[in-house]
Amino acid sequence: METIRVSFPHLGSYHTPMKVLFTFGFDVEYIAPPPITERTLSLGSRYSPEFVCAPFKYNLGNFIETIEAGANTLVQTGGTCRLRYYGELHEQILRDLGYKVKFINMAKVQDARPTTLYRELKEINPEMSLKRIAEILPVVVKMIEYIDKVEDYIRKNVGFETIPGSFDKVHASFLSELRSVHSRKELNRVYRKYMRLFKKIEVQKPANPLKVGIVGEYYTVMEPFSNHNLERELARKGIVVDRWLNVSSTLFHYPKKKIEENTRDYVKYPMGATAMVTIDRALECAKKGFDGIIHVKSFGCTPETDVIPVLQNISKDYNIPVLYLTFDTQNSDVGFITRLEAFYDMIKMRKEMGQNFKHPSAHSNRFYPNHWGECSPSS
Ligand code: SF4
Repeated sequence: METIRVSFPHLGSYHTPMKVLFTFGFDVEYIAPPPITERTLSLGSRYSPEFVCAPFKYNLGNFIETIEAGANTLVQTGGTCRLRYYGELHEQILRDLGYKVKFINMAKVQDARPTTLYRELKEINPEMSLKRIAEILPVVVKMIEYIDKVEDYIRKNVGFETIPGSFDKVHASFLSELRSVHSRKELNRVYRKYMRLFKKIEVQKPANPLKVGIVGEYYTVMEPFSNHNLERELARKGIVVDRWLNVSSTLFHYPKKKIEENTRDYVKYPMGATAMVTIDRALECAKKGFDGIIHVKSFGCTPETDVIPVLQNISKDYNIPVLYLTFDTQNSDVGFITRLEAFYDMIKMRKEMGQNFKHPSAHSNRFYPNHWGECSPSS
């Protein structure tokens, strides 16, 4: 029988728990897609419908490069937006390109019975053992939580490291050590060891640094290549970056009720995908007196486009600047950096003048769609 070599598209650092899941749970070889580069994007764009959102193009580029690297089984996830249909389309495009691979589309099992899920999982490895998967799954879930906690700590401190590159070095070795972990005990040991190492890194943080919250679309927020390394650019300017959106907060601890209650003054009905989280987190940043919010989305993302007028209302009500960044496959770094610089200068000046936060008085005099763009130097 041919060796099963499974792959899954990139999303931040989550290829590490994916490796653990497939290797120790499904007992198959895991092929991580090569790091995303311009080539990945160019391949993905060349064979995708032009107006499809950017995550589709990135995923397709990952699939093609991972097939070239030897993968013969591809897994695509489902989602709560168009992502749900992407698997079928990816599969068809790859077939049309002549690739003969097995394609597992998890969107098929989203609303289905456990038996359908079992059938789909069996497709990955017909000889898989449910017992092995049940044993490794809690380890993988905890690993994702630990990665998210570590990266949250990094975002808040990397901009202040005294020796450049210190956090990156420890982070790379943390992920590398996680790849061979397959028990909770080992996982806890690795996590504790690395948290100690991260906390030992010398940082020089001012008493009241600039704080910016990142909100927006799932993939574009979490995959650094797709947002031109936005978080790193902010850190370079000595900004504390706050980003709630990650896999553990949205998949394992999603506070649905709380989000509905918090956003009641701004929206009546759920708006799809990450829209409600975006509004909730923007409100949270505003209430906490952050210096600014950056809204990140992919070109063509309907739920996040719909969110913009709501963010403009929040911006007005809480007197907090919002920068709107839209990413596709054609963005030059120059335009992005210019807008970021302008935003940085503005929030820095506001902070120096002590104008960054006024508590809301009433929800009057709001921005409405005809005012789009007024409060941001963005596209
Ligand atoms: S949330 Fe938006 S960008 Fe992301 S897959 Fe859905 S439609 Fe596309």
